[in-house]
Amino acid sequence: MSLIVQKYGGSSVADIDRIRNVANRVAEYRRRGDQVVVVVSAMKGVTDNLIGMAKSFMPVPSEREMDVLLSTGEQTTIALLAIALQSMDISAASLTGAQAGIVTDGVHSKAKILNITPEKIHELLDAGNVTIVAGFQGQTSEGNITTLGRGGSDLTAIALAAALEADLCQIFTDVDGVYTCDPRVVESAKKLEEVSYDEMLELASLGAKVMQSRSVEFAKKFGVIFEVRSSLNNNPGTIVKEETKSMEDVVIRGVSLDKDQAKITLVGVPDRPGVASRIFQKLADSAINVDMIVQNISHGTETPATDLSFTIDKPDVAKALGVIDAMHEEVGFGNVLTDENIGKLSIVGVGMRSHSGVAAKMFEVLAGAEVNIQMISTSEIKISVVIDLDQSEGATKEVHNAFLG
Ligand code: ADP
Ligand code: ASP
Ligand code: MG
Repeated sequence: MSLIVQKYGGSSVADIDRIRNVANRVAEYRRRGDQVVVVVSAMKGVTDNLIGMAKSFMPVPSEREMDVLLSTGEQTTIALLAIALQSMDISAASLTGAQAGIVTDGVHSKAKILNITPEKIHELLDAGNVTIVAGFQGQTSEGNITTLGRGGSDLTAIALAAALEADLCQIFTDVDGVYTCDPRVVESAKKLEEVSYDEMLELASLGAKVMQSRSVEFAKKFGVIFEVRSSLNNNPGTIVKEETKSMEDVVIRGVSLDKDQAKITLVGVPDRPGVASRIFQKLADSAINVDMIVQNISHGTETPATDLSFTIDKPDVAKALGVIDAMHEEVGFGNVLTDENIGKLSIVGVGMRSHSGVAAKMFEVLAGAEVNIQMISTSEIKISVVIDLDQSEGATKEVHNAFLG
């Protein structure tokens, strides 16, 4: 008898038929004698709809209330799946994140899991139930509902697999596994048999929404090996695990495109020590993740000033502009420009560590496609560029073709 954690994303529970399909798959494992913990997302589109409704009242609604609101999406699915299984004579019981013992910090909308006390889950499993846990949500020690960031059901699944010491962790989605690029953008993308945690982490944080990046970080930290596979067929998926020696033979594992980034430029920022620290500390205090940062050469000699550009997630723009506005007087910069018309294109691979000329080749491909590079950032295993949004899909295809075609 194995203990299996399975996670089904929004598209896998998009309607009643899909929920029935999930119930059938879960029932197969259960009838085989396995103990099954199922984590589900909200039905496809539900979270976005709830956000839209809240924003029709105000652009930046209270984060506490947003978490109360968004957690209802997953709560609907856990109950529907439990009912579907019961209709098939399979004992099943649902638990909200709080009931499942998922305790988080109080950072609403991006809460971190502090600990999990899975007694209730064990109790239900021991009584022979398929135990269905609402993804994406937890509760603070004071009893407030929190959510774990978009795509956070992946994190719930990985964290439960770690806490329960599960034998198997499967992430079911609408693709067969992790591909060399989003198959919706590059049709010729190939499925990967295995990916290292570090590569998956970079791919995910750079736009491959097939896994939430924080969930991969968690998996790496706790050594949770997991499989990404389709809920619509029985094809083997992609195994995500610790790096092995042979993984370095491949220079580029994958290409990511993130169209959900925005660039903010502060014009005429005083060029003196402490200013950047002030600006980015305030943004960090509001849980706004800043990714790439570019500071131009200082201009003006009496009161030197510089232009400072950085990228953030598009949904954080309104909040970031609020934070920046509040610093305007104190820091004393000029205009604030927002550009949502950007795409961040990245190539990722642990093989980059031992191969040279990768950046040069990427830039050459972009130059050949007449794509202007606005920002560049690199790490040991990735190169990212910010380019014009309208050119981003075409550029992704060119770059994929050059390295992986
Ligand atoms: P779920 O609802 O199951 O959580 P998501 O929509 O979050 O599913 O993630 C699956 C989607 O991720 C796929 O439909 C695919 O378009 C996209 N995706 C982006 N990059 C990749 C990649 N490298 N490999 C596979 N899928 C990817
Ligand atoms: N429902 C949440 C979202 O849409 C969490 C998830 O699907 O994993 O982001
Ligand atoms: Mg997802």
